[in-house]
Amino acid sequence: MKIPALIIERIENLLRRNSEDIYLHEPCFLETNALEYLKDCIDSGWVSSSGKWVSKFENLIAKHTGSKNVIAVSNGTNALRLSLFVLGVKPNEEVLIPPLSFVATANSVSHLGAYPHFVDIESKSLGMCPFALETRLNQIGLKKGDNVFNKITGKRIAAVIPVHIFGLPADLLQIKKICTEWNLPIVEDAAEALGSKLSSSDQDLHCGSIGDLGILSFNGNKIITTGGGGAILTNSDQFAKLARHLSTTAKLAHQWEFIHDRVGWNDRLPNLNAALGVSQIEKLNERLRMKRLLHKKYIDIFNDIEELEIMQETKNSKSNYWLTTLRLSTENPEKLKEQILKTAYSSRIFLRPSWKLLSELPMYSSCQSGDLKEALNQSKRLINLPSSPQLISKN
Ligand SMILES: *Cc1c(COP(=O)(O)O)cnc(C)c1O
Repeated sequence: MKIPALIIERIENLLRRNSEDIYLHEPCFLETNALEYLKDCIDSGWVSSSGKWVSKFENLIAKHTGSKNVIAVSNGTNALRLSLFVLGVKPNEEVLIPPLSFVATANSVSHLGAYPHFVDIESKSLGMCPFALETRLNQIGLKKGDNVFNKITGKRIAAVIPVHIFGLPADLLQIKKICTEWNLPIVEDAAEALGSKLSSSDQDLHCGSIGDLGILSFNGNKIITTGGGGAILTNSDQFAKLARHLSTTAKLAHQWEFIHDRVGWNDRLPNLNAALGVSQIEKLNERLRMKRLLHKKYIDIFNDIEELEIMQETKNSKSNYWLTTLRLSTENPEKLKEQILKTAYSSRIFLRPSWKLLSELPMYSSCQSGDLKEALNQSKRLINLPSSPQLISKN
């Protein structure tokens, strides 16, 4: 049998229970208290921008991530934009990001009038490559006082956004070392990485809690969902206070007066969404277990096919395996990838190739960038497999 047909046959055998379509990732509300918690919001009238579920949800996120401060916000994109703003990213500055990510990473930079500047990824984690970061900074970075400027454009390099792709932890410990040397702050895009961890000398560090600030997303396709939502994580009380203030229209606390002391945003997560979030995060550990099981099953069923591998967490890291990712190892993988996707879609199994590189999108194609050799190489090879935890039975 040809490889595409073989792959699809094995996915069918593993996952197909009936004639239903098999999606990449679907929200799961099975065995949760979702309806009860949502009913509480509706019965009490507290459905909007304040209420007890928001702080409950924030406390549970803090417990799972070990982050000292958590601010629930309206979505992951806004969490990124607000985090960058809190760090002092201004119009006409540059922010270093990897080219392999969801478009929101670059958009959040643009939303502040700043410019993405692309730094290559590494093959083992698919995240920003510490060596490429160091190389690029040595090439173009110019230190002036506490700041770094791009020698070519003259613009200040204001921050770095490493991304944990598909839940696989990027090498944040090395990236942080380099950023510390260059005095560059980090916003960690952990939108896809709730439950993913890195270990450093017998301590587990949750993705998103290692940079100056980190963000999570609770969009419908993420490991847990609030319909739409996100969170900012930070161990800095000062950043947390500013982020919270700016996310709530910069309103000063007062019983009846409406006084705002600067231009803020309405970035809050509504109570209704937070209630859904609590019902979801209560099932996180169970969901992580199921993801790991599904990932293991994918490894088993594809073990004998030489032309591909299943991406695995790196040494000293634990992935949440949000999306299990297949990587083609043939020399020219483009045609094989196309055939696999065609075969899958005709069987109504909705696999997904990785995103088109951000550096190739029309609005970002003229941005500054280092050598993107590995990103170009990897993006031809990656296919995400159906990864909803409810796709497999519990044992
Ligand atoms: C989902 C996602 C975001 C944005 O989150 P939204 O809640 O959809 O705004 C940002 N970065 C990455 C890597 C994502 O996958």
